[in-house]
Amino acid sequence: MDSELFRAHAHEVADWLADYLRDVGRRPVLPPVAPGQIRSQLPADPPASGEPFEQLLADFDQLILPGITHWQHPGWFGYFPANASPPSILAEMLTAGLAAQCMSWQTSPAATELEQHVMGWLRDLLGLPADFTGVIQDTASTSTLVALLTARERATDFAAGVRGLDDTAAPPLTVYTSAEAHSSVAKGVKLAGFGLDRLRSIETDQDYAVRPDRLAQALEYDRRAGFKPACVVATVGTTSSTALDPLRPIGELCREYGAWFHVDASYAGSAAVLPDFRWILDGVELADSFVVNPHKWLLVNFDCSAYFVRDVDALLHTFQASPEYLRTARDAEVVNFRDWGIQLGRRFRALKLWFVIRSYGVDGLRAMVRRHIELAAEFRRWVDASPEFEAMAPTPLALVCFRWHPVGVDDGAALDELNRRVLAAINATGSVFLTHTLLGGRYVLRLAVGQWQTTEADVSRAWRVIQQAAAELAAAPAESAR
Ligand code: PLP
Repeated sequence: MDSELFRAHAHEVADWLADYLRDVGRRPVLPPVAPGQIRSQLPADPPASGEPFEQLLADFDQLILPGITHWQHPGWFGYFPANASPPSILAEMLTAGLAAQCMSWQTSPAATELEQHVMGWLRDLLGLPADFTGVIQDTASTSTLVALLTARERATDFAAGVRGLDDTAAPPLTVYTSAEAHSSVAKGVKLAGFGLDRLRSIETDQDYAVRPDRLAQALEYDRRAGFKPACVVATVGTTSSTALDPLRPIGELCREYGAWFHVDASYAGSAAVLPDFRWILDGVELADSFVVNPHKWLLVNFDCSAYFVRDVDALLHTFQASPEYLRTARDAEVVNFRDWGIQLGRRFRALKLWFVIRSYGVDGLRAMVRRHIELAAEFRRWVDASPEFEAMAPTPLALVCFRWHPVGVDDGAALDELNRRVLAAINATGSVFLTHTLLGGRYVLRLAVGQWQTTEADVSRAWRVIQQAAAELAAAPAESAR
C-alpha cells in the first residue's frame, strides 16, 4: 500500500468511524450470534496473494461487525464502561502510525516526557498526594500485580535484613484484601508467588466495604502465628457494588504492621475529578501505591491504567534490568519506564491521555462524571419508588444494584431465578445491556451509567425496558414466571 492509497483508505476509515460513533445507538448492543457463527464464515486458509483494501473493509462490515458487542452504545450499562471518546481514538491513530516503542527515554524521548507530565496532571486532577509519581500500565490487573511484586520484594528484603539472607526460616508472607475485591487481586497473589493460601479474605460490612476491625484481627493473628503481612489491597469502588473501603483506618493498620498499602480505585478513582467526591479517597496519603483506569470512566480508550507509587526506588528495585544492549549514555539523567513494570516494549499511551484532558478540559471531565452520577441517582429514585423493584446496595457513584422483587415472591432462590430471566429478556431487546453480580449470595442486576454518549433519555429507556421485561415475565404462564 503506497502512501497515496494509504491516505485514501485512512480517510475511508475515518469516515467509517465517524458514522459508527454517530449511529451506534441503532445497533443491538449485544450481537445476536451463536458461538462459532462468525468463525464459520471465515476462509479456512489465508489468501495466497494480497487482497484490495476495499474487500477487507467490506468483509469487516459484513463478517465482523455483526459479531461485535457495542461498548460505545449509549444503552451500555454493563460491567463498568470502557469509553473511547473521539479525541482518544484520534490519538490512538497517531500512536499506531508512529509505532514508537516507549521502553526507554531514548526510544522516544517525547513519549517518556509526556507520560511523566500528563501523569502529574492526572495526579493533581484527582487530588492525589503530591509525592505520588505515575506510570501508565496496560490494565489494573497488571498495576495490582506490580504492587504485589513490589510489596513482596520489600517484605523479603525486610525479612532478610532482620533474619539474614540465607535464613530459610524467614517469615512466610501474607496478603489481605476484601471479600469483595476484584479477582485480579487473587490472580496477582498467585502470579507473584505468595500462594493463594496466604491470601486473607476480609469480611465486609452491610454496605460491602471491608471491616477494619476484622482486618486488624487477621493481621494480629498472623503476626502472632509467625507470618509477615506483606501487602493490603483496599478497593475504592468494588466491582460488584462500588463499595468504598475506608482507606484511613486500613492505611493506619498497614503502617502499624509494616505492610505495603495498595489502593485499587480502577473504576471509582475517576470520580475524584470532582472536588466534592474526593472524600472517597480520604486516607489515600497513607497508600504506597494506587491504580485508576482512565480507560474505564475518563474517556480514554482501552488500554490506559494509571499506576501511582510513592517510593519509586522500591519499584526500580523490583523491576530494573539493564542488559548492555539497552544501556544509553543518558541513563543517569532520564526515566526509563521499562524499569517501572513488567513489560519491556511499551505503547505510547500518554498521547491519548493528553489529547483527552486537553480536548475536554478539567471542566468537561468533571461535567461528564457528574452527569453520570446524577443519572444513576435518578434511576435509583425510580427503583426506590417502585413496589416491584428494590435496591440491593448503596449507590455512592454511578452504579445501581437492584433486583426485581414482585409482590408475594419472597423465596431467595425464586427471586434469583426471576432476575436471571428478566436480565436475559432485557438484554435480548438489544436496546440496552446490563450485567449481574452476587451480593450476599443473591442474584443482583447492575446498571452502570458511564458510557460517554448516554443521556437521560437512554436511562429512561433502560427503566422502561426493565419494567416491560418484568411485566411480560409476570404475565407469562406460571412455570416461566413466578
Ligand atoms: N479492579 C476493579 C475494582 C475492577 O472493577 C476491575 C475491572 O472492572 C479491575 C480491577 C480489572 O481491571 P482491568 O481490566 O484493567 O485489569
